[in-house]
Amino acid sequence: MTTVDSRPAAALPATVITPGDPRYASMLRGMNHRFAGRPDYVRVVSTTAQVVAAVDDAVRAGRRVSARSGGHCFENFTASPDVQVLLDMSEMTAVGFDPERRAFMIEPGATLGQVYRALFKGWGVTVPGGECTEVGFGGHMVGGGYGPLSRRYGAIVDYLHAVEVVVVGADGTVTAVVATDDPADPHHDLWWAHTGGGGGNFGVVTRYWVRSPGVLSSDPEELLPKAPGRWRSGHLMWSWESMTERAFATILRNFGTWYERNSVPGSPRANLFGFFEGLGRTAHVMVGGSIDDEVPGAEELLTSYLDTIAEGVEVAPAHRGQQTQPWLYGASYPGHGDPGNEFTRRLKIKAGYLRKGYTDQQIATIYSYLSTQDYVPALIVIGYGGQVNTVAPHATAVAQRDSVLKAVYLSVWGGEDEDETRIARLRAFYRDVYAETGGVPVPGEVSDGSYINYPDADLADPAWNTSGVPWHTLYYKDNYPRLRQVKGRYDPRGVFRHALSVEPPEQRL
Ligand SMILES: Cc1cc2nc3c(=O)[nH]c(=O)nc-3n(C[C@H](O)[C@H](O)[C@H](O)COP(=O)(O)OP(=O)(O)OC[C@H]3O[C@@H](n4cnc5c(N)ncnc54)[C@H](O)[C@@H]3O)c2cc1C
Repeated sequence: MTTVDSRPAAALPATVITPGDPRYASMLRGMNHRFAGRPDYVRVVSTTAQVVAAVDDAVRAGRRVSARSGGHCFENFTASPDVQVLLDMSEMTAVGFDPERRAFMIEPGATLGQVYRALFKGWGVTVPGGECTEVGFGGHMVGGGYGPLSRRYGAIVDYLHAVEVVVVGADGTVTAVVATDDPADPHHDLWWAHTGGGGGNFGVVTRYWVRSPGVLSSDPEELLPKAPGRWRSGHLMWSWESMTERAFATILRNFGTWYERNSVPGSPRANLFGFFEGLGRTAHVMVGGSIDDEVPGAEELLTSYLDTIAEGVEVAPAHRGQQTQPWLYGASYPGHGDPGNEFTRRLKIKAGYLRKGYTDQQIATIYSYLSTQDYVPALIVIGYGGQVNTVAPHATAVAQRDSVLKAVYLSVWGGEDEDETRIARLRAFYRDVYAETGGVPVPGEVSDGSYINYPDADLADPAWNTSGVPWHTLYYKDNYPRLRQVKGRYDPRGVFRHALSVEPPEQRL
C-alpha cells in the first residue's frame, strides 16, 4: 500500500478530549440532536498523519472508532453508544488546487459552503453538490451527493478523481492509501467505493481530489464546471387554508409529469432545478425552481415551468414570484438549507428515488397525511436526473441512474417528549405511501430504492420493510456485491461499521 508523504500542515495540535474535559459535552452531537454519543474520548485531528495515529491507537486498544466530518448524518452512525473513539475531522478544511494531480484537493471537514466559496473565489468554478452549506464534504461525497446543479452537471461523485483513505489491514497495520479513477490503479476499487458507497464503511477519508471527467487541460479554471454568475429562482406558494385535495393532487401530478418529460440530459430544461415542498396544515405547499440566469432563455424556462405546475389547479397561489441574485449569495449563506434553529434540531428522515411522478394512489395518501392536525410530517420532492443519468449504473457506486426525482419524508421537532409520536407518524406515512411494495420504495416502475446519504435504519427492520427486498438492494442495487468485496479487502477486520454499513463478503466454503 502507498503511504502519502506530502500533506497539508496541521491546523491544530492533535487533541484528545475526555469526559472530564469541559469541551467534551460540546463534541457529542452532530446536527441531529436526537443522538448524543458517549465515546471514551474525542480526538480532534487535522492531518493525515494524525488520523493514522488516532486510528492506530484505537485499533491497538480494541476500541471501536468512527469519523465525523460535518456531522450532518441523519442516523446515529457517529453517535451510537458503542462508538468508543470519535474522530472529529471538522478542522480539516483545506481546499486548493493540486497541480501535480491536476485536480482540486478538498479536505473532509470543509463544509459545502466553504468549498463553494473557495472554488468560486479562487477559480470561478464549482461542483454540483448539495444545498445545505453546513453539510461536510467528508460524508457528502462518499454518500453520492447532489444538488441544484446536478441536472446540469451530474452527481458530485462524477467529479471524484482520487481519494486518500486511512485503512486498517488484516494484521492491524494502519496506512494512508490514495485510490484514483485510473482503472489501472491497484486501488481503483477503493476509489469506486467512495463514489456513493456511503461513509463510515471502508476507512477514514483524509482528502478528496475532484475534477471534471475527461478534461485534459492543466488550467484549474477548466477543470471543473464554471460557477453561475447570477442565479434565478422562482416559486409558487399556496396556503393550506385554501388547499383542496383536488388542487393538491393536480400540483403534485403536474410536478411529477414535468420531471418525467423534461429530464433529458443536455436539454435546455435539464438546466432547471426545482422542488416540491408540502409542509402540511400549519404551513404551505410550495413549488420552487431555479436556474443559472446566463442560460439562454432562463427567465422564459422558469416561467413556463411555473405555468405548467399551476395548470388546472383550482386554487390560486397566495404568492408567485421570480428573483435573481448573485450565485454565491444563495449558494453559501451560512446555515442555508439547515432546517430551523436550535429548537428544531431533532429529525427523522426517510427517502426514495422516483423514476416518474407519484401514482394517484400515492398522491391521495400523501394528502391524507399532510392534511392531518397533529405531528404533521413533511414531504420534499427534489429535481434530479438530467446529466446524472448519462453515467452507467455500475460506473460509480450510485446505482440509480434513471431517476428524475428524489423524495424526502421528514419530521423536524424540538423536544425529546415528541420523539415517539413524531417518529411513529413518519413511519406510518412512509409505509402507506409505499403500501403496494411492502412499505419501502422497491425498485420498479415508479420507485428506484433509496439514497444512502439520507439513511434510514428502518429499511433494515423487518417491521418496517415487509417487502422481502433487503435494505442494501434498496440503497445499492446490483452494486452491493462489489462494495462487499471492497469492504473485505480494505476493512478485513470490520473496524468501520454502523447500523447500515456494508457487510463483509460472504465467506467461500
Ligand atoms: C440539513 C441537511 C441538508 C442536506 N442537504 C443535502 C443535499 O442538498 N444534497 C445531498 O446530497 N445531501 C444532503 N444532505 C445529506 C448529506 O449529504 C449527508 O448527511 C452527508 O453524509 C453528511 O456528511 P457530513 O460529513 O456532514 O456528516 P457526518 O455526520 O460527519 O458523516 C456522515 C457519515 O459519513 C461518515 N464520514 C464522515 N466523514 C468521514 C470521513 N472523513 N471518512 C469516512 N467516513 C466519514 C460518518 O462516519 C457517517 O457515517 C443533507 C443533510 C442535512 C442534515
